[in-house]
Amino acid sequence: MNIHEHQAKQVLAEFGVPVPRGYPAFSVDEAVQAAEKLGGPVWVVKAQIHAGGRGKGGGVKLARSVDEVRQLASQMLGMTLVTHQTGPKGKVVRRLYIEEGASIAKEYYLSLLVDRETSRVAVVASTEGGMDIEEVAHSNPKAIHTFTIDPATGPWPHHALLLGRALGLTGDAAKQARTLLPALYKAFTEKDMSLLEINPLILTGDGSLKVLDAKVAFDDNALYRHPEIVSLRDVTEEDAKEIEASKHELSYIALDGEIGCMVNGAGLAMATMDIIKLYGAEPANFLDVGGGASKEKVTAAFKIITADPNVKGILVNIFGGIMRCDIIAEGVVAAVKEVGLKVPLVVRLEGTNVDLGKKIIAESGLNVIAANDLADGAEKIVAAVRAA
Ligand code: GDP
Ligand code: MN
Repeated sequence: MNIHEHQAKQVLAEFGVPVPRGYPAFSVDEAVQAAEKLGGPVWVVKAQIHAGGRGKGGGVKLARSVDEVRQLASQMLGMTLVTHQTGPKGKVVRRLYIEEGASIAKEYYLSLLVDRETSRVAVVASTEGGMDIEEVAHSNPKAIHTFTIDPATGPWPHHALLLGRALGLTGDAAKQARTLLPALYKAFTEKDMSLLEINPLILTGDGSLKVLDAKVAFDDNALYRHPEIVSLRDVTEEDAKEIEASKHELSYIALDGEIGCMVNGAGLAMATMDIIKLYGAEPANFLDVGGGASKEKVTAAFKIITADPNVKGILVNIFGGIMRCDIIAEGVVAAVKEVGLKVPLVVRLEGTNVDLGKKIIAESGLNVIAANDLADGAEKIVAAVRAA
């Protein structure tokens, strides 16, 4: 789960991490009130969307008067912000963050993330902050420094030294790193973050380290122990189909392709996506209906797939183990009867109760193309979509 910049800063502030003062605003009036509370003389008006690159796209602007805050707020609220992370469709700005302006002496990059290779928290730091870190990694990889922290011990003083060295900090700034790093690490681990990216971390004109931008992602599997984090969820930032899927406890990820897939088992779902690509088409989604899915769950899954206007064909690929083929067949038939079928549908069933499943589909009178195995199914759905 992702949260907005202003929420991330609030969470970090609870752990003693230095952030500029600021208030979220959902309307121009709220933006003006926030500016008055902050008092100026410089403010920053920041569009809150779940994507980076806002600065370059016109979503981060400095204001030098309350009137200017009002003007910028009315421009930004409701605008569609396109950045290199939003895709060409962009994202509608529904809320702003009004912050006190900071004087920037230096911008750094700093992130914490889970490193699966070492089973530790990795710290990534660079003096090349404020810009696209992927670009730095590509053009100047030596400018990016990484070290890991053992979860059994947490950060030790030498980690702060490593951080200070990576960022070229001296004197008082190096001293501040000694409290900053443990605070960030504590926030990261206590809140079960999977990513904490600060770009930029700044050194202000008067020599203090501050978090100027923060992107935080949480481990979904740990959200059950953080109701306070779940309450920060902004569903307007999420894919409507994914929200609907999560209500039915379906593992669904929307993608850009044209072949909708309904599969049981994450591994088989991945293999199905691969084989669709092998036959020259693109999957429209990842969907694992799970082992013990009911007819209702299958119906819901089918509805989500057909609601996607990009879907030009559907491949149902079920290997019945715990999941019985007849349940899938009943779910598919019920869903098609309810929502209709405007695109070709290929069904491949194998395993438990396969004959009964095939019989249900055959006797349903629906226009379903039967497939014998995975390759056959992929080939048939790609051909059917091409022919349509
Ligand atoms: P992003 O473009 O989505 O990553 O948004 P950021 O929050 O990182 O803002 C982009 C850039 O705006 C930063 O790298 C800074 O250079 C600049 N910026 C943001 N806040 C301030 C501020 O308070 N003062 C000044 N001078 N620049 C700021
Ligand atoms: Mn940034």
